[in-house]
Amino acid sequence: MKNIESNKEWMVSLFNNGIVAICKTRITDGIIIDGNDFFAQTLGYDSINEIVAAKVPITSFYSNVEQRNALMQLLQKDKQVNDFRLDVESGNRKGVISIYAILDELEGVINTIILDITEKEKSIKQLKENEESLIKLNKIAEKSNQAKSIFLANMSHEFRTPMNSILGMTELLLKTDLTKKQFNFINVITKSAENLLVVINDILDFSKIESGELVFENISFRIKDTIADVVNSTFYRAKQKNIELVCNYLSYGGDGYILKGDSVRLNQILLNLVDNAVKFTEKGKVEIEVEKTEQTEKTITLRISVSDTGIGIKQNKINDILNSFTQGDISTNRKYGGTGLGLTISKYLIEMFGGKLLISSEVGVGSVFSFEIEFEIGNQTELVALKENEKEYNNKLDQNIKILLAEDEPFNQLVVQSMVEEWGFDIEIAKNGNEALELLSQKQFDIILMDIQMPELDGLECTRIIRNEFKSPINLIPIIAVTANAYTEDHKIFYETGINEIISKPFKSQVLFEKIVEMLQIKVEHNQSVNIAENEFDKVYNLNVVKKITKGDNDLLVKMLTVFKDKSNIEMKEALTAVYDQDWEQVGIVIHKLKPSIAYLGMIDIEKKMNNIIKWSREKTNYNKIKMYVEFINEVLKKVYIQIDKDIKEL
Ligand code: ADP
Repeated sequence: MKNIESNKEWMVSLFNNGIVAICKTRITDGIIIDGNDFFAQTLGYDSINEIVAAKVPITSFYSNVEQRNALMQLLQKDKQVNDFRLDVESGNRKGVISIYAILDELEGVINTIILDITEKEKSIKQLKENEESLIKLNKIAEKSNQAKSIFLANMSHEFRTPMNSILGMTELLLKTDLTKKQFNFINVITKSAENLLVVINDILDFSKIESGELVFENISFRIKDTIADVVNSTFYRAKQKNIELVCNYLSYGGDGYILKGDSVRLNQILLNLVDNAVKFTEKGKVEIEVEKTEQTEKTITLRISVSDTGIGIKQNKINDILNSFTQGDISTNRKYGGTGLGLTISKYLIEMFGGKLLISSEVGVGSVFSFEIEFEIGNQTELVALKENEKEYNNKLDQNIKILLAEDEPFNQLVVQSMVEEWGFDIEIAKNGNEALELLSQKQFDIILMDIQMPELDGLECTRIIRNEFKSPINLIPIIAVTANAYTEDHKIFYETGINEIISKPFKSQVLFEKIVEMLQIKVEHNQSVNIAENEFDKVYNLNVVKKITKGDNDLLVKMLTVFKDKSNIEMKEALTAVYDQDWEQVGIVIHKLKPSIAYLGMIDIEKKMNNIIKWSREKTNYNKIKMYVEFINEVLKKVYIQIDKDIKEL
């Protein structure tokens, strides 16, 4: 009993204290006959007496006719309504209410509770508007980001075509007879063009990362090879600045783990870090360290760090330099050049590998860039299979191969034409897809080189027509797309259309040559390729002569091999430095010093090449061939060293 009483009191207090508005209206005319003051105030009156005296029907406050009619219908049908929302208007006050009403036919009244939800509705509306404008803003941001990515991709695409002419032509020019001065000028052009290409590739990578289009390969590779590549590429620059480039892992550690992953991307990360380290160091050393931090049955975790004794980075700039197009200092760009994209790309790539780039640095002392990646353990069989796929080709072919080139850009026509004519191929040029189709119906061709972006009829459409509308054997001719589009996403469409191979501009003549040979399955003999398959060691490295000298004394043999390795390694680096400095006389002198040891190891092919180098260096000719031969010998020796290490272990 007491409970009911107190509930009643509570209800009364709710009504009287302006928390709930309540009223009673007549069914017949809707006139308000009773209620509380709060109800009157909700409708803009001071008290309930005032509103009752005015004899106003409640419906006169419901400003929306449709809502009003719906409420009346519902009340007549169900005799009650719950949370029925209505717009109300009284004087110049507009609002929204929620009605709970019961029709009491016996009394002839409707009992109504009213909740003023004007403010609540306003904030819901505001929230909705906010949400909508956020979605709109988000869409605008997304669109402008997409536009930026597309712009960057297009820009890099547009650059690629003229770059192809520059690099292609300089490559061809280097093969002609040149004076030393001309050779030097062209080398400068090549270097600058290659640097520009790095920037273009960075921009493309960056836009691919931003649009989430970067795809990783998962192939077996030997980590030692990847690191050796990085050291080889940066060795000259370090040497030129008199900076020591150290990687103990290459000499002692690692027993050449075979891992699985994208070695090209790992190379890109390391190259960028080591490149920066060399760039921002004036004296001291740059060190690459590789440390195994964990191994399970299926994985190996490596911590790789690149440290330097360079200019360092201010603490408050360390996070900034990871942002795109940001450099440590405004003066950095003036002094060292660069785009500020390298670290951003490296950071993303490391994250794609599942790692995190860590930086510690002190101004004037140096910096350490490190990251840890868990790699799946790769497999030897896959590695060997991949190596076997690295076919070797001779650049001179006697076969009469007819090429159709569809390309609108005159410079690129000239580049490809000069390259293929040098190999002894016949070539016909079509300026667009239509001309290509016409030539195809008149003459016989062995292979088609197809540019993709061409006026009138583009490369893809042209390929589609060749594959679908021409009869055999024309519809079966191999087609190689030669494109400035480096988007692998688009490459899928190329293959689906019927293109067999893709070459991205700019390309080296050797790449074009290999693709043509591969497509036509031409068998050629090995000549001067620098790719030496692992199982070919026996041909270039022979212990018989040394064994004769050491007469079964294994200790002496080990000593001789070790001395050979250390001495030739130093001399080879000297030779490479001389090549890099274009000091051709010095190249001859160093190679002359190195030659006798090479002869002891029975490397006849290398010995012959060395004789040529010495001869050309004396005659002051064939500088480009000297460079090629020195690089070739360096590659061979790297493989020989691995074999020597194995042999020493066995001895
Ligand atoms: P870039 O080298 O093209 O300027 P990065 O993104 O590779 O672009 O580097 C961004 C900036 O980070 C550099 O401009 C430099 O200020 C700073 N930086 C990177 N590596 C080093 C380093 N090893 N020592 C000192 N500063 C560095």
